[in-house]
Amino acid sequence: MSKLELLKEIAREVSLCRNCTLWKTRKNPVPGDGNPSATLMFIGEAPGYWEDVKGKPFVGMAGKTLDFLLSILGVSRDEVFIGNVLKCRPPRNRDPSPEEIRLCTPFLDRQIKVIEPRFIVTLGRHSTSYIFSKMGLEFSSISAVRGKLFEGQVLGLQVCVFPTYHPAAALYSGRNREVLEKDFRTLKAALERYGLLNF
Ligand code: URA
Repeated sequence: MSKLELLKEIAREVSLCRNCTLWKTRKNPVPGDGNPSATLMFIGEAPGYWEDVKGKPFVGMAGKTLDFLLSILGVSRDEVFIGNVLKCRPPRNRDPSPEEIRLCTPFLDRQIKVIEPRFIVTLGRHSTSYIFSKMGLEFSSISAVRGKLFEGQVLGLQVCVFPTYHPAAALYSGRNREVLEKDFRTLKAALERYGLLNF
């Protein structure tokens, strides 16, 4: 099976999943979207209101910020892959529970193994803490690790992990927006060093 077919199969299984209770309140599952062979993968937290309505990741207000941040890198959405820790919207956008993360992340793990990204950008504390756990790294706080590159193994793949704030953080504070923009300029320089821009 091609990478595209493998991702479609994962999306099909997500749509049938009843492992936690979120399927009961969601409108649509949001398995993730983008290039099946992306060098660069973004991992958010969970679908919000508009993602749940449309079945696509980052299509609401936070998505507008993410689009702007991608423009700093000079890449489009269809060159990268955008996914989430949880595939279904938690009611009222509450935080994912540890049990929901445990039950849902096998889907994310499979997506990572299919895509084989060289860089993983973790957006916010939930995805950063999850990916750090896979790398055997201790996660303290997002502000302590954001804007830095962590090289290591994730699920047997050699990757660079770059944590930053969740794009929604920019909606609450201009300072957070400045930090996110600065981090994306740092990310751009790192991707250029690895010869991974202009793919
Ligand atoms: N926030 C997320 O973490 N993911 C989305 O897809 C949208 C908003």
